[in-house]
Amino acid sequence: MQSTITISENIKYYLELEEQCGAHNYRPIPVVLSRGEGVYVWDVDGNRYYDFLSGYSAVNQGHCHPKIVQSLIEQAKKLTLISRAFHNDLLGEYAKFMTGFFGYDKVLPMNTGVEAVETAIKLCRKWGYEVKGIPEGRAKIIVCEGNFHGRTSTVISFSSDPLARKNFGPYMPGFEVIPFNDIDALALALADKNVAGFLVEPIQGEAGVIVPADGYLTKAKQLCEDSNILFMADEIQTGLARTGKMLACDHENVRPDILMLGKALSGAMMPVSAVLADDEIMMTIKPGEHGSTFGGNPLACKVAMTALQVLKDEKMAENAARMGELLREELIKLHSPHISIVRGKGLLNAIVIQHHNNDAAWELCLQLKENRLLAKPTHGDKIRLAPPLIINKDQVMECVNIIGNSLPCLD
Ligand code: PLP
Repeated sequence: MQSTITISENIKYYLELEEQCGAHNYRPIPVVLSRGEGVYVWDVDGNRYYDFLSGYSAVNQGHCHPKIVQSLIEQAKKLTLISRAFHNDLLGEYAKFMTGFFGYDKVLPMNTGVEAVETAIKLCRKWGYEVKGIPEGRAKIIVCEGNFHGRTSTVISFSSDPLARKNFGPYMPGFEVIPFNDIDALALALADKNVAGFLVEPIQGEAGVIVPADGYLTKAKQLCEDSNILFMADEIQTGLARTGKMLACDHENVRPDILMLGKALSGAMMPVSAVLADDEIMMTIKPGEHGSTFGGNPLACKVAMTALQVLKDEKMAENAARMGELLREELIKLHSPHISIVRGKGLLNAIVIQHHNNDAAWELCLQLKENRLLAKPTHGDKIRLAPPLIINKDQVMECVNIIGNSLPCLD
C-alpha cells in the first residue's frame, strides 16, 4: 500500500504555522486552500481540486456563489449586527421567508449547528414541562447510537463516540441512547411517560452516511405522535437539498415537530442556524429565556434568504438526486476490491474501505488529494463523498475516474 504525497515548501510553511500556534483538535489532510469557486478549490500553489467534502455539507450551493457573495457584500455595507436588544429591518422578513419556505409557525435564529441542537433540546424540555406536564427535572430525550449533533458539553453527553466524550464529563443527564434504525427499540423507549422528545438525524452523516430503512422515519414519527412526544429532526447536514430533497424527511413526507437547520443555510458564508416549530412549542420560550448575540443579525438574515432562494431557483435538490444516483452507479461499476459498500442518498454518500490496514481510508484520501480530489475519512474506514450540489455529469465522471485511479494505492 503506497500513496506518494508531495508537500511543497510553501505548503509546509502553512502547515507548520498552524501546528505551532493552533490547537490540535483536528487532523486535516495536508493541503492548504486559498480560493474556491463552484465545485473547485485551489491550494496556495495554484493546484485545483474537486471538493468532495463541501465543508461537511455547508457548501451545498458551491464555493463563493456569486449571488450569495453579492448579498453578503451589499448587506455588510449597510448593517451587520445590532443584537436582539433592538429590532432590525430584516429579521421579520427573514422569519416570514423561513416559516413560509418550510411551513412552520415560527423560527428561532441561531448561529452554529450545535446551537440549533441546544435550542431544540431546551425547547423540547420546556414543552415537556409546560405543555405535556412532565414533573420538573424529569424530562427525557431519546437519541440514537452513532449520533453526531455537535460538540458542546451537553451534546457530547449523549454521544456514543468515546473520542468525543473522554474526560469531558461530568455529563448532562436526561438522555437515553437507543440503536438507530430500530423501531422496536424506539417503541420501548417511548413507553416512559417522561419522554419529551426523540432527536434524530434522518441519515447519520458523521457516522458514515448511515441511511435508515425506508419507512423508519414515518414509523418513528407516528410512534412519537401516538405517545405525545416531539419528533426532532437534526437536518443540519442532511437538509437544504443535500439528499435530493429540500429536507431528508421529505423523502418520507415526514414533518418534524422541531426542525434544525445550519451549515448551507448561509451558503457557507458565515455560521447561520435555525430552529423551526409551531407555536405550541416555540411560544413556551419567553423573553430572556434563550438567545444569542449574533442570532438573527441582519447580515445572516439577508445571506440566508439568498442562500435558500439560490437552492430553489437553481434546482439543486433535483441535481443532487440525479448526480447522486450517477455517482453511486459509477462507483459500483469500479468493482474495486477495496470498496465494500457504496451508500447514500442524493449527494450525501460514503464508501466503506475494505483493507487489513486501519489507516487505509486515510491513505486513500492522501492519494485522492494527489490526484486533485479532496475527501476526508470519517470513523476510520468510511470516506464521505459529498460534493457541492452544482456538480454536473462530466465532473462526476471525472471524479469517479480520479477515485478509480487512486484506489490501486491500496493494492
Ligand atoms: N448536527 C449535525 C447532524 C451535524 O452534522 C453537525 C456538524 O457536522 C452539527 C449538528 C454541528 O454543527 P456545527 O459544527 O455547525 O456546530
